[in-house]
Amino acid sequence: MVQETTVLVVGGGVTGVGVARDLATRGVDVTLVERDGLNAGTSGRSHGVLHSGARYADTDPEGAAECIAENRVLREVAPGCVRPTGGYFVQVVGDDPDYFDQKVSACRDCGIDVEVLDGAEARDSEPALTPDAERVAVVPDGVVYPSRLVAATAADARDHGAAVHTHAPVEELLTDGDTVVGALVDGLGRVHADHVVNATGAWADDLAATVGIDLEMHPTKGAMVTVESPQLDTVINRCRPTDDGDIVVPHGRTAVLGTTSVEVEDPASFPQEDWEVERVTEECAAMVPDVADAPVECAYWGVRPLYSPESYGEDARGISRGFYLLDHAARDDVRGLTTIVGGKLTTHRLMAEATADHVTERLGVDAACRTAETLLPAQGNLDRLDALVDEFDAGGPADADVVGR
Ligand SMILES: Cc1cc2nc3c(=O)[nH]c(=O)nc-3n(C[C@H](O)[C@H](O)[C@H](O)COP(=O)(O)OP(=O)(O)OC[C@H]3O[C@@H](n4cnc5c(N)ncnc54)[C@H](O)[C@@H]3O)c2cc1C
Repeated sequence: MVQETTVLVVGGGVTGVGVARDLATRGVDVTLVERDGLNAGTSGRSHGVLHSGARYADTDPEGAAECIAENRVLREVAPGCVRPTGGYFVQVVGDDPDYFDQKVSACRDCGIDVEVLDGAEARDSEPALTPDAERVAVVPDGVVYPSRLVAATAADARDHGAAVHTHAPVEELLTDGDTVVGALVDGLGRVHADHVVNATGAWADDLAATVGIDLEMHPTKGAMVTVESPQLDTVINRCRPTDDGDIVVPHGRTAVLGTTSVEVEDPASFPQEDWEVERVTEECAAMVPDVADAPVECAYWGVRPLYSPESYGEDARGISRGFYLLDHAARDDVRGLTTIVGGKLTTHRLMAEATADHVTERLGVDAACRTAETLLPAQGNLDRLDALVDEFDAGGPADADVVGR
């Protein structure tokens, strides 16, 4: 059995469906294959924060500017997938006040709206906040429901002619000389394509290795703990250099606490350790004391698809959370293949636009990106949105408390 397509996208996380949507809306014939249900990888196992960029403003201003721009876009095009809660960056007693001032000034430099409250003012609107809060920077963070975002994005791709296949793992890429010409897909057979996009996240090196390409992936695991809601309506971040347990995310009747960062050998199989759950809970309780005793619903882990061709020292936290578009013709003398790795849920649309710009140029297709202006399907109808989640088997632990309820 041989199938033909113009572009084959491998991987049905937020990046892959974003690429399929962008290409399909430019009129390109696309097939997407995902080995599990959509959203089964990292996308469904994140905190679900729609970043304002404040988290990165002092260390990665370019990434922060991307976040605030995409945060605004997603509020417009995916209102059914996001909740504009607002976010706090909290200076707790003992935290460095200079770091707080630097964060506020870096946010302003990146164009992120920020207002400073004292602890008492912040607790008036968010009573669950610790009495040890000294100052709070209020920023436009929000919550994003990855299952809905991935399903709606895939539905838009399909509405524009894309074929979306779940439970269709790629066994290997197919080559003709030094050109990738498609993939062998379990259940579909040989799928021939003019161009293949590798959007397999933390598994990008496995797919690339089937054609002899070495990718320097450094996946790191992060633990998240879902607890019964301590009556929280705002994303709460600790205002200090990134560390374990510095974020609490309101999710319906629960809150998600996160996270850790530990490099793993195999993103599909790694130890899920009690110390991570304990540390995350303990650190988050310094911001929201009620979480210390709140009943735990579950703990889950995600794996960051970090790529770093350079050495980064002892701690993989130092690796950029920016995205990388790898043109394998230029990088490895292998034509017909592009990899897109790294990034964030928040910036997936921008990553997809950059990938589609690159691929359409290779294909000689002259069509502009429209994804920043076009509403995703079913945004005004949560039942329809959650039916799409079911249809694409796109449920995940990050928003299991909200989606379908
Ligand atoms: C702990 C943690 C918390 C995070 N929190 C946030 C947050 O709050 N906000 C935010 O913006 N970002 C967050 N991120 C980052 C964000 O989740 C990721 O950057 C993003 O989801 C990556 O999406 P992806 O599509 O590239 O990868 P994935 O979602 O992993 O998708 C890759 C897909 O490829 C599939 N695949 C792999 N191999 C094959 C194959 N051979 N054939 C077919 N399919 C294959 C996998 O099954 C998977 O579904 C977080 C990440 C982590 C780890």
